[in-house]
Amino acid sequence: MKTTKPKVGLFGLTGCAGCELSVLFTEDILLELLDKINLVAAPFFKEDNKQKYDIALVSGVVVDKNDIKKLKEYRKNSKTLIALGACAIHGNVPALKNFMNKKVVEKAAYETTKHLESVKPSPISDYVKVDFSIPGCPPNSDEIVKYIKDILLGKKLVENKKSVCFECNLRENYCLLYQGKPCMGPLTRAGCSALCPSVGKECTGCRGPIEDANIDEVKKIFKDKGLDPDRILNKLNKYAGLKFKELMKKNEKKD
Ligand code: SF4
Ligand code: SF4
Ligand code: SF4
Repeated sequence: MKTTKPKVGLFGLTGCAGCELSVLFTEDILLELLDKINLVAAPFFKEDNKQKYDIALVSGVVVDKNDIKKLKEYRKNSKTLIALGACAIHGNVPALKNFMNKKVVEKAAYETTKHLESVKPSPISDYVKVDFSIPGCPPNSDEIVKYIKDILLGKKLVENKKSVCFECNLRENYCLLYQGKPCMGPLTRAGCSALCPSVGKECTGCRGPIEDANIDEVKKIFKDKGLDPDRILNKLNKYAGLKFKELMKKNEKKD
């Protein structure tokens, strides 16, 4: 019996291409995956022929009018649109420009800024409906494969709402925060199997904050351990981008 493979498009707006590489670097599973899906567009791999997609995986941040135009096309042409990575979900590092002097930032990057049609660096959900998000900077290849398999099996996609600490405890790691190291695990979305703490490096929060992040509680622990609590805000700001203000408001309401 002939089955139709879902058409999948992988797209990048403005970003470092790390997210796209996370999909293409699924290594031994990639060939198996390509047997099950019809990859119709992917940077470095297959040219986008502007067709209809069952699934569009979109990474990167919206920084100019060209990004907006491309993003709207991806949305129009796809049944399911997935935000891939911290830039697409939160704005990530590029969104730090929103907290700085725009002209100073642009002049530091370009000799002349006349050609720029820049807009406020924003997550893609500011412009189109997003059906699902896969966090990380870059996202974890195993997690991407897991979600693609779920789609192929017709399963409902469920976001991992736990914190990195949950996975870290499952791996029985000796907590770095309690050793006086500034680990962001309690505030960060799980799904990476506590990759960094498992090799003795503190989590920097690259998967973005969990919805019910209790910033004040973690600030207290930082203070108790002799760490500067404001480091938390800097780290959150780096990855949460424009969602940072929302998060701070939510925490104020808790008080
Ligand atoms: S989320 Fe990280 S890896 Fe992906 S495009 Fe942005 S900076 Fe690159
Ligand atoms: S090392 Fe970090 S991620 Fe692991 S339990 Fe401690 S605070 Fe949480
Ligand atoms: S442990 Fe933290 S910084 Fe490391 S990959 Fe996971 S979320 Fe990112």
